[in-house]
Amino acid sequence: MEKCLVCKKNPGPPKTLITIRTLHIRDLGGEKKVQAVGNVIEEWVCGSCIQKEMDHALNPGKIIWKKTMLYAVLAAAGIAIAVFFHERVLRIFGAAAVLCAVLCLYSDLTKISKRRKSTIDNSPEENNTFYSLELIRRNLPRKNGEEDLTYIPMERSLVSASLGDMGVEYGLIPEIARQVRDITAKHFALSSSAGDMETGKIL
Ligand SMILES: [Zn+2]
Repeated sequence: MEKCLVCKKNPGPPKTLITIRTLHIRDLGGEKKVQAVGNVIEEWVCGSCIQKEMDHALNPGKIIWKKTMLYAVLAAAGIAIAVFFHERVLRIFGAAAVLCAVLCLYSDLTKISKRRKSTIDNSPEENNTFYSLELIRRNLPRKNGEEDLTYIPMERSLVSASLGDMGVEYGLIPEIARQVRDITAKHFALSSSAGDMETGKIL
């Protein structure tokens, strides 16, 4: 369906992604990860949804205000518990809530500021790719029954990526990282030979 995944209106150019299905199995030996490559899908988001996302990153005032309010409520509740209750456990709990609010706010503000800086530093093309992929991944299903679903953008850089790096970046077991790399290599080999044919026809 060629429509924007977010606003269901005018699509931009498609992005191709590889679906990864992951099942976490817990048994006596601990947790095991069973992984498989799922469908290769194409998804679209439109320019105005990407622009909105970029604007939020560049002007984070509203989101900073919301987060500050949220953590202020948590900290106030923590202070109230620590001050008004006399049980030691509750006082520790109250103090922990205050500490958690401060640390969470600090961590969120750091992330917001990094996101703003990278949006300013990156080229329009880099921002376009980054925000369109982020929007697509955020709006696709994350679960299929017991399985976790994740999506890897099919980019040319994957063809030469090391299996270790892919494992770390996308949480892939080595065999699945190899399959993803093979599928990507095949995709780009096919698309470049289709491009050659096209050029041949024109000539
Ligand atoms: Zn849209």
